[in-house]
Amino acid sequence: MSYAFTPLPIPSLPIQGSDQRYPVHRIFCIGRNYAEHAREMGVAPEAGTPMFFCKPADAIVTDGTDVPYPPLTSELHHEVEMVVALGGGGRDIAVARVPELIFGYGVGLDLTRRDLQRQVKAKGHPWDIAKGFDHSAPLSALQPASAAHVDGRTVLRLGVNGTLRQQATLAEMIHDVPAIVAALSTLFELHAGDLVFTGTPSGVAALQRGDELHAELVGVAELRTRIV
Ligand code: MN
Repeated sequence: MSYAFTPLPIPSLPIQGSDQRYPVHRIFCIGRNYAEHAREMGVAPEAGTPMFFCKPADAIVTDGTDVPYPPLTSELHHEVEMVVALGGGGRDIAVARVPELIFGYGVGLDLTRRDLQRQVKAKGHPWDIAKGFDHSAPLSALQPASAAHVDGRTVLRLGVNGTLRQQATLAEMIHDVPAIVAALSTLFELHAGDLVFTGTPSGVAALQRGDELHAELVGVAELRTRIV
């Protein structure tokens, strides 16, 4: 067997303390997982079934590479999020089994063309053009789960040009990581290499070319990048 043309390389993330990289299969994202962010988006927070969307795996921006300001928007928003990287998968995964499937943790930005998102929401159209554009998922290196200490007190935050824009503890998530992964596994068969963006706290706002971003899952992972 040979391919008709050379396939693009598999997108991958650095792993803290390792020369190996984490190959990315898919990127799943949960929407409206922090109550104050749901409210700032004009919707009531809901505890029911999580709302999911996807980004292409090759939307990741890694290793501190600059992020190009995307076309066809004048309202590029930051959403800082904890990112969970799966090291195993399955269908209909029990909540109690989720921890053993987690490869590691990182911090990422669910960049959003907010003006396009408003337009597609109003028309009842899919979110892809607002969420899944090129370079829409800048990510840190992953900290392996064996080394990571992540609990409800862990702080997620984003600074832009040295000013704090978003900050929350993970206890503020409506759906926790086991619940998110278990729910996703009822919709998709999950695999090692799948990333899950776990939602953003309030404080989302517009970015400009030249902005310097510092995202942290404090004590676990950090990402420094720049919009160009
Ligand atoms: Mn988000």
